[in-house]
Amino acid sequence: MKIGILSRNSQLYSTRRLVEAIEQRGHDAEVIDHLKCNLVIEKNQPTVIYKGRNLDYLDAIVPRIGASVTFYGSAVVRQFEMMKVFTAVESQALIRSRDKLRSLQILSRAGMGLPKTVFTNYSQDTDGIIDAVGGAPVIIKLLEGTQGLGVVLAENRKAAVSVIEAFHGLKARVIIQEYIKEAGGADIRAFVVDGEVVGAMKRQAKEGEFRSNLHRGGSSSIIRLKRAEKSAAIKAAEKMGLGVAGVDMLQSSRGPLILEVNSSPGLEGIEKSTGIDIAGKIVDYLERNGGPRRRIQKDK
Ligand code: ADP
Ligand code: GLU
Repeated sequence: MKIGILSRNSQLYSTRRLVEAIEQRGHDAEVIDHLKCNLVIEKNQPTVIYKGRNLDYLDAIVPRIGASVTFYGSAVVRQFEMMKVFTAVESQALIRSRDKLRSLQILSRAGMGLPKTVFTNYSQDTDGIIDAVGGAPVIIKLLEGTQGLGVVLAENRKAAVSVIEAFHGLKARVIIQEYIKEAGGADIRAFVVDGEVVGAMKRQAKEGEFRSNLHRGGSSSIIRLKRAEKSAAIKAAEKMGLGVAGVDMLQSSRGPLILEVNSSPGLEGIEKSTGIDIAGKIVDYLERNGGPRRRIQKDK
């Protein structure tokens, strides 16, 4: 097969590992910078032009689209869908996953465990918001944040009121969430490919920190998921419509609670903590579904 990796940087660990896994299995890999793709839209003949060439020979793609370029990146993925090229992550699922609030709404409708969350249109009833998630301490999150930046723990009501008012005063959109204390500064990342958990790690925040993001100094180790955690991860990926997903969960006294579902989960942390060839699992998935225009994708 000829497999395209949509990535802005061929030197990134995840991109390099995908190229390696594709070539190991005897396929051709091509790294394509999605921002340099031109999309030609005309009757019955959608094409993608890249560096003056027509990309009409790909059998499958793996989108690795950064959050800041979701709009253009998803348009490129959609164009390949129109060309009936199999994609590890569909454009609609990619867009859905980038909207934290919409994702939580979809997961809530599916009956999944979530930290209780409130979103308001800059409501001035700050006490009412805090009461709605069970009182302080609360977590306050910027809707646009990633890598743990923009996530605040307000330990008491006074702090919570002033942080919420400050964000609202800046017209920054935030969600207010119940603080899951028993998670102990740790979370779980389950890597799901094609409806199966192919690897899982636990991330532990450094001393004195509640955010377990590796970018915030957290450390990761392999973990064996409980049955409920495994099925929550699989269901979350399914409800989001993602063929490849990184599902983040907190371990709470009422079972796993989904924090977020990532559509371009990094490979480095999970491969290094588990020793599992996750890139290879993604290529296996493409092998099962990609190929010479076999698959007509459903129109969402
Ligand atoms: P980001 O998308 O920026 O990583 P997250 O929502 O994943 O933001 O939060 C970052 C980290 O903060 C999580 O990995 C987790 O360790 C911690 N955290 C987030 N929400 C809660 C919560 N409701 N209760 C306890 N800890 C939380
Ligand atoms: N096609 C998707 C669906 O029907 C879009 C709507 C959504 O993401 O909620 O589920």
